[in-house]
Amino acid sequence: MSHEFELATVLHKSKFLARFFGGNTRPHDKKARPRNSLSREDRFMLRHNLLMNQVFEFLAQTGLDPIPDHYELAWHYLTCSSSIQRMMVESHMLEHGGIAPHDACDMLDEIRTSISERELHQMVEDARQTMTDAAVLTDRSGKDAAEYGDALGESVQLLAKSAYGSEVQVNQLKKLQQLTSEMIERAAIAEARLKARGKAILQLKSRLAQSQKQALSDPLTNLPNRRAFEACLKTALEETGRLGAPLSVAFCDIDLFKRINDTHGHATGDRVIHHVGDFLQRTASANVHVARHGGEEFVVLFEKKTSAEAMEMLEEVRSRLAAKQLVAKDTLRPIGLVTFSAGVAQLQEGESGSAFLARADQALYEAKNTGRNKVCIAA
Ligand code: GH3
Ligand code: MG
Ligand code: MG
Repeated sequence: MSHEFELATVLHKSKFLARFFGGNTRPHDKKARPRNSLSREDRFMLRHNLLMNQVFEFLAQTGLDPIPDHYELAWHYLTCSSSIQRMMVESHMLEHGGIAPHDACDMLDEIRTSISERELHQMVEDARQTMTDAAVLTDRSGKDAAEYGDALGESVQLLAKSAYGSEVQVNQLKKLQQLTSEMIERAAIAEARLKARGKAILQLKSRLAQSQKQALSDPLTNLPNRRAFEACLKTALEETGRLGAPLSVAFCDIDLFKRINDTHGHATGDRVIHHVGDFLQRTASANVHVARHGGEEFVVLFEKKTSAEAMEMLEEVRSRLAAKQLVAKDTLRPIGLVTFSAGVAQLQEGESGSAFLARADQALYEAKNTGRNKVCIAA
């Protein structure tokens, strides 16, 4: 960057700052005082307070996030525009009507060296603190800090090469760079902690989801259990009331199942329950919900379906199941035909959920009493 260009940037920034803060943030506005008339301590306190206030004001006014890049921007901007440097630039402009390149070099020299190591340390420490906090909130922080560190490293190299870079300036930047490394390290630790916490939360979430799933599903058939069905029915009843769409329910019970158990054993009985569950599950869709109600009994909820439509679907499953000869897996003995009976009911206007289910149960009873392996519709 040429010195003319750097100076133009400084002047532009100075004007920008004056516009931004209304030119009221300059404690030395009343009268231009030579910088050496202030004590060292006064100068430090004055500049430090001014810089920090302006950094935060700058960030607040610009809406920039408090990330290292923006601190760096504010730092450069305010270093070149603190009251003394601003006055130096402005009085020079008034006196000469412009700034010659060699004057600009002197000014830049002045600007670069006028910020003390303590101020730099304080600023970076503040930035580091903010960085650490930010790292807890965002993954980006570590990356930002690393970029910031790289930028500082480049500045050190450039300044060391520059004819205008004094040993003090290089040391100041080196110190800044060292503090940034520390900042990156701490930000990385904070991020690692955040990630570990995030991982633990994810594990907790997945365990919770798992136990919720377990609480709502039947381990033998992997179908939703009775509790899940009841929740589903509650929602469906609300939706049906709201939409005025039909709602039907069916109880399906395996015929003469006790015999299967007695003849082939409980394990085979279990497999038969699983098999029938699989068949019924094939009817399931976004609007058709199949659950194991208990024992060898299943329940199917048909949203937006009349009892006739539900019956049609169940008849198809029933006839396919009833056409299949089963064999006991372990003994290879034939089980024969496995069938189920079903009772279907369609929700009536103003009917309660329990009355609705009771009618479906009554229809099942009718199917059992009139020959089994059939689907009956409730009156
Ligand atoms: P119906 O056609 O009238 O329904 O006759 P059924 O034999 O199927 O009915 P019943 O209620 O007399 O017998 C059901 C049997 O189902 C009794 C019970 O031991 C058995 N059972 C219930 N739950 C399970 C289970 O999870 N596994 C097995 N293997 N058997 C079960
Ligand atoms: Mg039965
Ligand atoms: Mg039964």
